[in-house]
Amino acid sequence: MADQEDSMTKLHCYVHIPFCRERCSYCDFFLVTKQELQYRFFRALYEETAERFSAYGGSAIHSVHFGGGTPSLVPVSYLEDWFETFSRHVSLNNDVEITIEANPEDLSTEKIQGLAALGVTRISIGVQSFLPEKLRTLGRLHTAEEALRVTSEAMAMFGNVSVDLICGAEGETLEAWERDLHIALSCGVPHISVYMLALEKRTRLERLVKRGIVTLPNEHAQAVMYAKACELLEAQGFEHYEVSNFSKPGFFSRYNLGCWRRESYLGFGPSAHSFLVSGGHEVRSANVSSLVRYMASPHNAQEYCEMLSEEEQIDEKIFLSLRLSSGLELDDLLHFHESNSAVLETVRRLKGQGLLKMRDGVITVTRKGFLFADKVAEELLPVRKQ
Ligand code: SF4
Repeated sequence: MADQEDSMTKLHCYVHIPFCRERCSYCDFFLVTKQELQYRFFRALYEETAERFSAYGGSAIHSVHFGGGTPSLVPVSYLEDWFETFSRHVSLNNDVEITIEANPEDLSTEKIQGLAALGVTRISIGVQSFLPEKLRTLGRLHTAEEALRVTSEAMAMFGNVSVDLICGAEGETLEAWERDLHIALSCGVPHISVYMLALEKRTRLERLVKRGIVTLPNEHAQAVMYAKACELLEAQGFEHYEVSNFSKPGFFSRYNLGCWRRESYLGFGPSAHSFLVSGGHEVRSANVSSLVRYMASPHNAQEYCEMLSEEEQIDEKIFLSLRLSSGLELDDLLHFHESNSAVLETVRRLKGQGLLKMRDGVITVTRKGFLFADKVAEELLPVRKQ
């Protein structure tokens, strides 16, 4: 991967905007559908931002990521006011990446222009599919025509556009999935995220599947669709740089890559996570997953905070590195283990199963291995005495 600067010098910023028009049947994210709370939420967000950034005076921010929920649902002026609060305390790197996650139904021409005027540099569009039938099955609120229109308008305005696609929807065939991929490619977007529809606990979709009302393609069919995406996108010059993410050179998601590389990031808003590296210490924290509690006390939003032990740092490094095409240095892995022979034997076995490969002293997962990245990582964790 091109961007290999020192991770310790970077600070990223995530802002969780917890509003959606409706909850999609498969979604378990933290969000609410009461739009009347937007105004109060943003007052709380400004407070939290001012309070926490007062400790980071002078820091330069490498990327800002508005996630959700649906950040494109809120007025641009609310985001503008957030930047005003933000810029009183910290500055933006000259080449900062500012990404907003957006749903097609929110992206009117005026909205796209407003986001560009605000300084947004990258749009990540939750298209999920360009096919009318699949959009209906997924219960999405936009049409296939809208998805095409906003993707091409966003491309004309930003050039740096990502689309999310889901595979494994009810009744989806490999042929339909290929058609979806070809339409996405025809839009010329330089970044595509591919997600396999997962049955998250306590979602409407999980209940429908359990009752036998909905049947999804099985794991094997999903794996075949995923492999097809890898093959088609790589043939078109996309680098498969993370389990679910494909990018043309130079268009990686800087914020997401920062998280996987364990660079520091500050998360604002309910349920947002933070990770800070300083002086050899690594601290993970999370804000409260309740909008009511968040708005009542934005100064006190943190509900969990933990300094990682050395062992936890090693485990995270193994897990996150193996999600990336940049992989893990064999020397690092050996350094983490007491017995080199045991871990080398595991590496040999995983290579034999077609899950790992090694080149120039770096271990990476294969295309097949990407599907099992977490399981592969588990096998490579050091065994510790209780
Ligand atoms: S729009 Fe996105 S965040 Fe909102 S409910 Fe649907 S999948 Fe979840």
